Amino acid sequence: MRRIFRGVNTEMSPRKIRRIEQVFVSHAQIDHFFGFDLLLRVLVGREQTVHIFGPEGLIDRVCHKLQAYQWNLVDRFLCDLIFDVSEFGSSGLARAARLRLKNAFGEEKREIKALPEGVIYDEPSFQVSAAVLEHRIPCLAFALQERVHVNIWRNRLTEWNLPVGPWLHELKRAVVNGLPDDHTIDIPTSKQQPVRKIPLGELRAVLTVTPGQKIGYVTDAADTVANRQAIVDLVDRADLLFIEAAFAAADAELAKERAHLTTRAAGEVARAAGVKRVEPFHLSPRYQGKEKQMIAEVTAAFSGT
Ligand SMILES: [Zn+2]
Repeated sequence: MRRIFRGVNTEMSPRKIRRIEQVFVSHAQIDHFFGFDLLLRVLVGREQTVHIFGPEGLIDRVCHKLQAYQWNLVDRFLCDLIFDVSEFGSSGLARAARLRLKNAFGEEKREIKALPEGVIYDEPSFQVSAAVLEHRIPCLAFALQERVHVNIWRNRLTEWNLPVGPWLHELKRAVVNGLPDDHTIDIPTSKQQPVRKIPLGELRAVLTVTPGQKIGYVTDAADTVANRQAIVDLVDRADLLFIEAAFAAADAELAKERAHLTTRAAGEVARAAGVKRVEPFHLSPRYQGKEKQMIAEVTAAFSGT
């Protein structure tokens, strides 16, 4: 997956981290943001731009993280690492800044992109919307909507004697961007031979195009009427919803005190939004060994039983 939603997963391999182009941060509590340092360590020395989106105050927090290190040797780096950080508030994108390695990550001003209401990021292949939730601090929930879903069939590649490789990303991009059938794609062959150029129209035989999927991501959130409504509006009819289910239904008092959702609340919200599949996560460590029971509570509320 090229994009991640929650700081950086510390189990993510450097190879995968190098492919990250956008990062969506729900909020900066330590369990959701400490992975930034891993991202930084892997990317310093590489020519790369990463867009980081998060709640108001995020630019200062990223600056503080970066300024914790000494950058007196930046002149020796050949490549520039750029972080384009954008803050999203209740009235949309509010502030943007650029922080680059070659400038020792000093803050540079950036224009704010005008986007439709609720949209935090937009590109030809997908769009991400956000909602500001209440968790005693503002906390962002996200919904990613793919424009179309391109599936490439490995067996058909074999039939057509085509290799697997990065050129398939170019193929997908060409399909998503609606390029004409006579647009040619470069396909690397063996080292001795030149690249093959095949028109997009012919390559359509190895793929199928289906409607794009919608994925919701919600953590952390208090169980309030306003939050429930905001989540339902955001993740409406998503194919897949990742949602926090921090506390058991029986511990609703505790959930309220900590401004988190219970298993039941997570299931009810998913049901109200009419999502196809719900994937609960962010269970409190106190339920270790009881994960099955926790998931069963979400499923029961989701299916209305
Ligand atoms: Zn949390």
